[in-house]
Amino acid sequence: MPNRRPNILFIMSDDHGAQAISAYGSGLNQTPNLDRLAQNGAKLNHCYVTNSICTPSRAAILTGTHNHVNGVTTLYTHLNNQLPNVAKYLQAGGYQTAMVGKWHLGEGPEHCPTGFDFWSVLPNQGDYFDPPMTENGEAIQPKGYATEIITQKCSDWIKQRHPDKPFFMMCHHKAPHRPWQYHPKYEHLFQDEIPYPATFDDTYENRAKAASEARMRVESHMTYLDLDLVQPYIPAANQEYSEMGKKTAQMMVPFPETDEDCKQLKLICSRTGEVFTFESRNQLKRFKYQRYMQKYLRTVASIDESVGQLLDLLEAEGIAEDTIVIYTSDQGFFLGEHGWYDKRFIYDESFRMPFLVQYPREIPAGVTIDSMASNVDFAPTWLDYAGLPTPSHMQGYSMRSILKGNEPDDWQQTAYHRYWMNQDEDHNAYAHYGIRDHHYKLIYWYNEQLDAPGSNPATHPEKDWELFDLKADPLELRNSFYDTDKKDIVIRMLHMLDQKQAEIGDIPQHDSQQVIATL
Ligand code: CA
Repeated sequence: MPNRRPNILFIMSDDHGAQAISAYGSGLNQTPNLDRLAQNGAKLNHCYVTNSICTPSRAAILTGTHNHVNGVTTLYTHLNNQLPNVAKYLQAGGYQTAMVGKWHLGEGPEHCPTGFDFWSVLPNQGDYFDPPMTENGEAIQPKGYATEIITQKCSDWIKQRHPDKPFFMMCHHKAPHRPWQYHPKYEHLFQDEIPYPATFDDTYENRAKAASEARMRVESHMTYLDLDLVQPYIPAANQEYSEMGKKTAQMMVPFPETDEDCKQLKLICSRTGEVFTFESRNQLKRFKYQRYMQKYLRTVASIDESVGQLLDLLEAEGIAEDTIVIYTSDQGFFLGEHGWYDKRFIYDESFRMPFLVQYPREIPAGVTIDSMASNVDFAPTWLDYAGLPTPSHMQGYSMRSILKGNEPDDWQQTAYHRYWMNQDEDHNAYAHYGIRDHHYKLIYWYNEQLDAPGSNPATHPEKDWELFDLKADPLELRNSFYDTDKKDIVIRMLHMLDQKQAEIGDIPQHDSQQVIATL
């Protein structure tokens, strides 16, 4: 039946960097089921997020618009569920629709999922074990591990679907989000030393201050809970001294200034009671990375298993040929690169989204695609496959041609990013925007509050620009914005940035003519 409209199974995890997928050449882990998706279809090397953080990325995907349009600029600005979204268009266009797992766009009548025939979601960040959920507006209390519960609910819904209508399902995993609680059956994995990224000991020289000021370092900004270590008892009255503040009372594991002080430190595993001691800062830093990555990669193992189960189900149901299956993450993630965990930045590890897709009727098997795409393109792509028009307010472009391996002559050559939360108290990441093409990346750290919730009003602006030559310096270690021989490139990138901001209606915080006058 060549005219049959495809089902769309969109599987998205939370904070899964492409570095932890073997199809992307990971030296860290094996993900045979994600790789199976890549072998059956396409792998995108240049899919980017418009704002590298959970809630805004989800809003961009669902609405097909940038965050200044959909209003979800930060973690604390929830989606107005009266706005149009792609599920509503697909539902009105004859699709049966479902949303299962992490929603993270707000709760209650004004923010709960809309446009879905069935929805079952984790409140806020959700829990890994026995997670409370809200199902079609009712509180439920399933037992078990979140990744398995979400997979089971998706499988059950697919099995009971109406066979005569195509379906659109969003399967949104909580994993591998912090605090990386894995299923006990994967405890045995990653016992050997996990390799360190090339930039693990980055000293943040030759860059804007944003890099050195961010509190996202593996060495000093991970909590006892993050690393499954026993946190010292702190009387409630003193809890304001914990670095993460009163609201969580999660304390950072110390990173003493000297090797001598490291020798005084004793850390206790909260799972086994094992006691760890240290001879040096270097040893302590590596210990933290190993524990972080062990936990992270074990949660990814469950994601990979889930993807395999869903692919098996589609084959068993006889609908693999008729179903577009996408795997992505709401953004990338730092896995020790630049010494960091977390996301937020336009630097490639967090800017880039993994994107694997199979659709045997149309997408060739085993192809790698280098065309530029971003998360606002997802909604127009689904509508295109469904034979429905893309509403004029959507700002992305259908990826259907590029997924077939045909890049149209007028296809976008850039990806835009804007992070609005300035210097939030936990991570101290500077607000910024920027643009990337296949060769260069231009970043403006405007670093002002601009009334974005979550921003710290007490900080003073430290504005700066960065230019990275991604061919000569793919690890983004040297800011070449101020190099006199890069002036023409800076001007060209500024022009592209201005053009993009004008196209999408985002308000610049810079004046390119003034910037050029100072070069
Ligand atoms: Ca996320």
